Amino acid sequence: MITAEAVIDFRALNRNYDTLKSRCEGQKVVAVIKGNAYGHNAVRTAKTLSQADMFAVSRIEEAIELRDAGIPQPILLLEGCFCAEDLKIAAAKNFHTAIHCEEQLKDLEQTTLAKPVTAWIKLDTGMHRLGVQPYELPDFVSRAEATKKLAGPVGFMSHFCCADDKSAKATAKQLDIFLKSTAPYPGPKTLANSAGILYWETSHLDYCRAGIALYGISPSEGITGAKLGLEPVMTLKTKLIAVRKHDANQPVGYGETWTSERDTYIGVIAMGYGDGFPRSAPSGTPVYINGRIVPISGRVSMDMITVDLGPDCQDKVGDSVEMWGKNLPVEKVAEAAGTIPYELVIKLANRIKKTYLD
Ligand SMILES: *Cc1c(COP(=O)(O)O)cnc(C)c1O
Repeated sequence: MITAEAVIDFRALNRNYDTLKSRCEGQKVVAVIKGNAYGHNAVRTAKTLSQADMFAVSRIEEAIELRDAGIPQPILLLEGCFCAEDLKIAAAKNFHTAIHCEEQLKDLEQTTLAKPVTAWIKLDTGMHRLGVQPYELPDFVSRAEATKKLAGPVGFMSHFCCADDKSAKATAKQLDIFLKSTAPYPGPKTLANSAGILYWETSHLDYCRAGIALYGISPSEGITGAKLGLEPVMTLKTKLIAVRKHDANQPVGYGETWTSERDTYIGVIAMGYGDGFPRSAPSGTPVYINGRIVPISGRVSMDMITVDLGPDCQDKVGDSVEMWGKNLPVEKVAEAAGTIPYELVIKLANRIKKTYLD
């Protein structure tokens, strides 16, 4: 018997890709599948998204795993190659590489490559995390092209810091800097992440990079993916392992952080921070059982969570419990736990069995 499982609905993933693609009106869509496809299994996700124009990951190990599994599309290394040896591998395996700093440009200049490589210069337009400054760009472009090691015209990328906030002034400013700086060059351009795709149409340019929205999750707080026309892909389920009569004024769990005000029944759920569920989720965090929401009551343990089932509960040991998914948006759980849904889905522990609906 499987106790705790993440059910991954790849039919929903496909529909989300198609929904985002249709929002993009002709632009290519890069499916961002770093972090094991945000916890959804990168190889299976890539195989499911056979219609994707391109994939993107963070580390070359992730790209190699996809290539070895037979994924044919170009794979973009969002932070580029971290050493010359990796650049050789990127060229040989048709990975697209970012160039965000002098060291990476020097590697391109000084390394002998078996085949030309596709490169995207990453521009810092305001995130101030990675990227070439606008005034450095002309020099980077001419030096990259002078190497004669590029498979095509150099591309351009940048990343939004605040696109999830529709009222942020930073986004228009970043777009403006990006367009002005890259205007002289013919290469392809990419700027939009999920929030850019959904909220900032003028940022779509040539390639859009869809991450969190692919998985049916909203990139911004206060709204669910469903409201944006997306369907949740992951449902995290487990079982009720005890239903206990509980007296008023008695505490539950470590630290006695929660005390019942009434006679009630406490449900004990086989799920905890050892499964990747956040220990920081306070009492009141929602859990879905038998058609209704009940609150976490008491501290999250390593393997168990206690919920207040109420005095009239009909729940039984063995009943199915949903921690997030089709019936309980992961956005709501993240908000209650003081985090973002990205962190919840990516942090599932290995002992959570994944099952796939194709
Ligand atoms: C992770 C990432 C994305 C995808 O972001 P989402 O918010 O998940 O859509 C796009 N571009 C870069 C550079 C990233 O690191």
